Amino acid sequence: MAEPVELPTRIGILPFRNKVLLPGAIIRIRCTTPSSVKLVEQELWQREEKGLIGILPVRDAAETMSVGSMLTQGTDLGDRSSKNQTGLSDSHKLDGKSQQEPIHWHTRGVAARALHLSRGVEKPSGRVTYTVVLEGLCRFSVLELNTRGTYSTARISPLDMTKAEMERVEQDPDFIALSRQFKVTAMELISVLEQKQKTGGRTKVLLDTVPLHKLADIFVASFEISFEEQLSMLDAVDVKVRLSKATELVDRHLQSIRVAEKITKKVEGQLSKSQKEYLLRQQMRAIKEELGDNDDEDDDVAGLERKMQGAGMPPNVWKHAQRELRRLKKMQPQQPGYNSSRVYLELLADLPWQTISEEVELDLKAAKERLDSDHHGLEKVKQRIIEYLAVRKLKPDARGPILCFVGPPGVGKTSLASSIAAALGRKFVRISLGGVKDEADIRGHRRTYIGSMPGRLIDGLKKVAVCNPVMLLDEIDKTGSDVRGDPASALLEVLDPEQNKTFNDHYLNVPFDLSKVIFVATANRAQPIPPPLLDRMEVIELPGYTPEEKLRIAMRHLIPRVLNQHGLNSEFLKVPEAMVKLIIQRYTREAGVRNLERSLAALARAAAVRVAEQEPTVPLNKDVHQISSPLLESRLAEGGAEVEMEVIMMGVNNHEISSAFRDMSPLIVDEAMLEKVLGPPKFDDKETSERVATPGVSVGLVWTSFGGEVQFVEASSMVGKGELHLTGQLGDVIKESAQIALTWVRARASELNLATAKESNLLEGRDVHIHFPAGAVPKDGPSAGVTLVTSLVSLFSHRRVRSDTAMTGEMTLRGLVLPVGGIKDKVLAAHRYGLKRVILPERNLKDLVEVPAAVLGSMEILLAKRMEDVLEHAFEGGCPWRQHSRL
Ligand code: ADP
Repeated sequence: MAEPVELPTRIGILPFRNKVLLPGAIIRIRCTTPSSVKLVEQELWQREEKGLIGILPVRDAAETMSVGSMLTQGTDLGDRSSKNQTGLSDSHKLDGKSQQEPIHWHTRGVAARALHLSRGVEKPSGRVTYTVVLEGLCRFSVLELNTRGTYSTARISPLDMTKAEMERVEQDPDFIALSRQFKVTAMELISVLEQKQKTGGRTKVLLDTVPLHKLADIFVASFEISFEEQLSMLDAVDVKVRLSKATELVDRHLQSIRVAEKITKKVEGQLSKSQKEYLLRQQMRAIKEELGDNDDEDDDVAGLERKMQGAGMPPNVWKHAQRELRRLKKMQPQQPGYNSSRVYLELLADLPWQTISEEVELDLKAAKERLDSDHHGLEKVKQRIIEYLAVRKLKPDARGPILCFVGPPGVGKTSLASSIAAALGRKFVRISLGGVKDEADIRGHRRTYIGSMPGRLIDGLKKVAVCNPVMLLDEIDKTGSDVRGDPASALLEVLDPEQNKTFNDHYLNVPFDLSKVIFVATANRAQPIPPPLLDRMEVIELPGYTPEEKLRIAMRHLIPRVLNQHGLNSEFLKVPEAMVKLIIQRYTREAGVRNLERSLAALARAAAVRVAEQEPTVPLNKDVHQISSPLLESRLAEGGAEVEMEVIMMGVNNHEISSAFRDMSPLIVDEAMLEKVLGPPKFDDKETSERVATPGVSVGLVWTSFGGEVQFVEASSMVGKGELHLTGQLGDVIKESAQIALTWVRARASELNLATAKESNLLEGRDVHIHFPAGAVPKDGPSAGVTLVTSLVSLFSHRRVRSDTAMTGEMTLRGLVLPVGGIKDKVLAAHRYGLKRVILPERNLKDLVEVPAAVLGSMEILLAKRMEDVLEHAFEGGCPWRQHSRL
């Protein structure tokens, strides 16, 4: 403890706002304002150990209480500039408001010395600051306060008793009694603190070494008491008063500690193990809610387990799933693998291991009627489907071939497959294989990959939720193979009845029995399907439709369906046959009826808008009440015709709409409406004649995945070195055909009267350029041979090719015309384009039986054995060569 201190008569004053430093207490302060910095600098920093300052409590006016020993600055202590005022209490922040208020200085303070001093320079202002650790030493009384300088100073007198005085007091029986009482209370506090914080050892030593009246200050300074109590402690100059005050305060502190402890114990005792768990769970839930993750995991896992039990997994799968579930239960939801494990188990639980849709007793007659009512024409196809169903009826587990519908888009492949499902009473699921290049799309990714998923088949089965659906493998010809594996080989396993009992999806990692699934496939073309796959399937070709067939399909099937889909019926919209014909001719040029259906839908939409915009002529209260909802009624109660629109928009059914608009005259589609809704016509019959208006252009027929197409071939020549240029994204086969064609034409240049005998080299000083328009579409195949020759002959002879004639056929170097595929589609394409004559290889004659008689009847089919025959038919008035020979 500090030695008795020699107090100077004048001391630098540091004001403490609403705080008291008691003797024996140690405090750390930071001085930042100019006055306090100056004070510390001059009184402590420069004087080193000898330095002393006086700490004087001050209080804001607002807090002034009836404490007699306060001085109000500006009254009995003389003038103080407001500047000084600002700097006074910097060690305890002054806020803007209190700066305006008068400050009350306490008349007693405590002298303090610095135990530690450090100087700092603030960056970037360069301001000097001090951090000081102060120790309170002894009380003093202020005789006179001077606040005019940079910092305040005071004339003071010591308040502590002299040694002699102290000795006298120590004999006082009151003092002795008070001391004992204080000591007992202090001991008690120490032992309580010792239990709590294990700090008692040192404090106990203090009790024996430090005089009790000093210890009273130290004790009181160590716990939090109010400013008033601190002031009264400072004012307790009489040691007896001080001891009794300290005893009171220490006791109070002791009591408050005990009460707090009691409460804690009580609460702790009340919490049983289960309550603790509950509390923790509550906290966990709160955290989850905060994170937006509201599911109760435990309930979830239990739910998952129940679902798994009900999934009917085979024993080996069930064992595997149990193992996985045990793993999941051991994991924390935050753990990395948790989610993937859950998703996996969810899939296992969701898969239809045994769930089947009960197959209805197959009624072949009903199935036939259904096929007939859903599909116009397609007699052969429907017959084959009936045969297929008949076999299934006789031998349900027969391993019949897999039906594969091949044909251009929009010819009804998908809808036929769904009709099969309906006839069998099974669910229908469509798996799109278009663009699948990765085996994992079929078989799934192994679960070791992040973001792994099951393959499309398992995914489809999960969605359809039965294990015996009719599954349509759509666009099976569009699967390709690359470095990521061969999807076709995975499909082979799927379609092989021997293997698909234990289909292995990489993600699933347990076998799934696909043998109950009825597979049906579709493809645009059979040729790209890998042979082993094709071998497992029975190809049923669906040709494109003739315009007449399209008309029938539109009138009987598409229009009623489209009207129904748009909430209309024939009372509102009538599409006359003539208009459907126009749509077919001018707006669609396709093998199927997809765009036709789209165009009809566009008309129906336009009509729906028109209908919805009309005001019903029926009185509101009559019809509206039948279809009103409570919400509607409340709106109607407000009256007003504008609510009538609401009636239509409330999602009422067609029948109700029709009753509301019964009196409206139907909207009849006319040419003007067609133009307004579908835009100007996209196609007309003049296209071919315009395009072949110059020599060098011929009309070919090709076969694409969209069915047959008309393909123009353009040839042009210019000054050059005798080279052949080819453009239009051509494949190798077609490029070779062009070479062959040019060679053939050059070899017969003079025979064909294309060059004089002298300059028999057709390419002398010139290049030939052949282009296949629609340059963005890749083209290949041998069937353009005859078309190429025709365009070259036309180019060199400067004669136009007939604009009503299209041709197809492969050609040999010697000029023989070889048969090609897709005759039916090609003839239909020519028919669609309004072409009247088609030149075909003679050996394709047999294929003409497939072409609908109506089309054949309206066209002239010209058969060619040799190239000369083709040229004969292609030019008005025959081939140039013949013409020449005739001369
Ligand atoms: P695809 O699968 O061959 O591309 P969709 O089966 O999707 O074609 O057929 C397209 C639309 O044309 C469907 O609405 C379908 O019902 C209809 N459709 C196609 N062919 C016929 C037909 N012969 N009779 C009635 N509707 C047909």
